Amino acid sequence: MNVEYTDAPTAALEATTGDNMPCPYCGHLLPKEAERCDRCDWVRGATQTAEAKASDAVAVMFSIVPGLGHIYKGHILAGLLWMIGAIPVGIFVFLAAFASAGWGLGLFFFYLAAAMLHAYGIEDRVVPPKEDEGEEY
Ligand SMILES: [Zn+2]
Repeated sequence: MNVEYTDAPTAALEATTGDNMPCPYCGHLLPKEAERCDRCDWVRGATQTAEAKASDAVAVMFSIVPGLGHIYKGHILAGLLWMIGAIPVGIFVFLAAFASAGWGLGLFFFYLAAAMLHAYGIEDRVVPPKEDEGEEY
């Protein structure tokens, strides 16, 4: 990005390069391995273990419908792609089910499992409550 910043809050944008990272709550620059923020009440455990694990589980549950788990995590584009991808996969599975007297239906579970795994492993974008700008619409 070639935008010139004068008095804009640059902390969150410049932070990813060096040994620093921005505080997920307030954007204050912290050492990369910082356990807490000295400006606000952020602590590492709050965003990276408990909350992420919970949303991972929910994302997997939503992935019963491929893509829903991604949308839940804020990856709207990825979620839509998974949903669109389910259509040809679904048609193929439907035909395969005819050809194999029902066994082909099992193929769809592979797609579901892939969607669930991806939704589980994908980075959670909705944890920091303040940067919900919906830039993927
Ligand atoms: Zn902070």
